[in-house]
Amino acid sequence: MDQVTVSTKAVKSPWGTQNVTAPPCSLADVMSEQLAKQIQEESSCFTTCPELSENLDLTTLPKDNDTSSDLMLAQMLQMEFDREFDTQLRREEKKFNGDSKVSISFENYRMVHPFEDSDSSEDEVDWQDTRHDPYRLEKPTTTPKKGFIGKGKNITTKHDEVVCGRKNTARMDNFAPEVHVGDGIGMDLKLSNHVYNALKRHCHTEQRRSARLHEKKEHSTAEQAVDSKTRILMYKMVNMGILENINGCISTGKESVVFHALGGSFEEMIVPEECALKVFKTTLNEFKNREEYIKDDYRFKDRFSKLNPRKIIRLWAEKEMHNLTRMKKAGIPCPEVIVLKKHILVMSFIGRDQVPAPKLKEAMLSSEDIKKAYYQVVQMMQQLFKECNLVHADLSEYNMLWHDGQVWLIDVSQSVEPTHPHGLEFLFRDCRNVATFFQKAGVAEAMSMYELFNTVSGLQISSESEADFLAQIETMEKMNEDHVQRRSKKVFTTCDGPPLLSDDDDD
Ligand code: ATP
Ligand code: MN
Repeated sequence: MDQVTVSTKAVKSPWGTQNVTAPPCSLADVMSEQLAKQIQEESSCFTTCPELSENLDLTTLPKDNDTSSDLMLAQMLQMEFDREFDTQLRREEKKFNGDSKVSISFENYRMVHPFEDSDSSEDEVDWQDTRHDPYRLEKPTTTPKKGFIGKGKNITTKHDEVVCGRKNTARMDNFAPEVHVGDGIGMDLKLSNHVYNALKRHCHTEQRRSARLHEKKEHSTAEQAVDSKTRILMYKMVNMGILENINGCISTGKESVVFHALGGSFEEMIVPEECALKVFKTTLNEFKNREEYIKDDYRFKDRFSKLNPRKIIRLWAEKEMHNLTRMKKAGIPCPEVIVLKKHILVMSFIGRDQVPAPKLKEAMLSSEDIKKAYYQVVQMMQQLFKECNLVHADLSEYNMLWHDGQVWLIDVSQSVEPTHPHGLEFLFRDCRNVATFFQKAGVAEAMSMYELFNTVSGLQISSESEADFLAQIETMEKMNEDHVQRRSKKVFTTCDGPPLLSDDDDD
């Protein structure tokens, strides 16, 4: 700062030279950002001019061209000063050596960068000149066989400190992309072998460390959220325009991770403004739990045996799609399927402004609303059974959402047809959950689980005890089994759903 004030004051001074062109200005002006910018523009050769940049201390220089920093200004002025010093030094060196065949170098007197110590341990450096093409470092120009270039006193060997330093600087570009080497590469900065090797060692350790961290992260996202393959599929959906953007995760459940997304537009497809992405988990132990549902579902029986676990997970997603489609057709409030891609199901979002509708468990309904909800649930269960030919099989206050004054059914990937070998048992379990919940919620009209079962199924099972009731159910299931076996292949079609995105990159 002082130097600027001094130089501007010099105009008024009796010793000031007449050819100073810079107009006088106040200290405030000097401090001003505008002036700083101007100075910087005038000295825009900083990054290309070797004399200027070689003395630049990269450890303190701000990365961007932030001219508001006093430090920056000071450094620029220091560089200006150093440049002049070095130019003068070079002139003196030239004068000293004259035409003599033996020349003395003044190099040691130049303004040296603190990093530029003169240690020349060469052991770890491979000598590749990459300075002129930093973007093609793999194919550098080879060092001439003779080991030196130039003639007479201008001879430069591969061990020349300046050449080595520059090579080392250019080699910094070989460091991993996450290593910030600053502007060093663009400048004529000379890194000694010692410094270069230390930096390289540091980068390698850092890389290994971050690889370990990354591995951990990758692992945890695969567990809690999604793996990299799934992420790619999700990006693809955004790229195709089906989704405009995928937001945060709404839920990480036992079997899936659900995301909120903003709908885009894709060909004729009507994509709602808000979407939910259900990503089915692809871990094997989860899949084991689902096996009983899908293995015995005659709709999927033939396909099941031929598939690998990953494809079975997709089948699971497909199952949810088909079931939702059936429900929608019957007019049951449920998410509308938009598209299915492998194990990712895109459906309409139940909720508003990224906030998912509360589960019945959390909805805190008034006594009037809870009663309304109860009657609606009973009606939906009947519809599901009779019109959709489905049993939810995981129906509870956790899989029913309260939205727009009504109950919405979700999570139907495990839903089966009533003729599933365990279909009626599943229905009974659903009835027990529903009856218990609404009774506890104070709905006096709520039927007992037995009554509810008979109402939904249209069966007339009568029994005093739960064990006996279940025994009767199981007998019925066994009777059904033969019948189901006989009609298996005829009934099921996979075409009752919305589009399946082509599995182009199937593995
Ligand atoms: P859980 O093991 O918790 O039952 P899950 O793997 O069976 O989870 P779902 O029940 O389908 O998956 O979804 C988990 C949660 O995500 C739901 O409880 C609900 O809060 C939310 N959710 C799922 N689908 C939607 C949707 N279409 N709109 C809004 N929220 C949804
Ligand atoms: Mn659920």
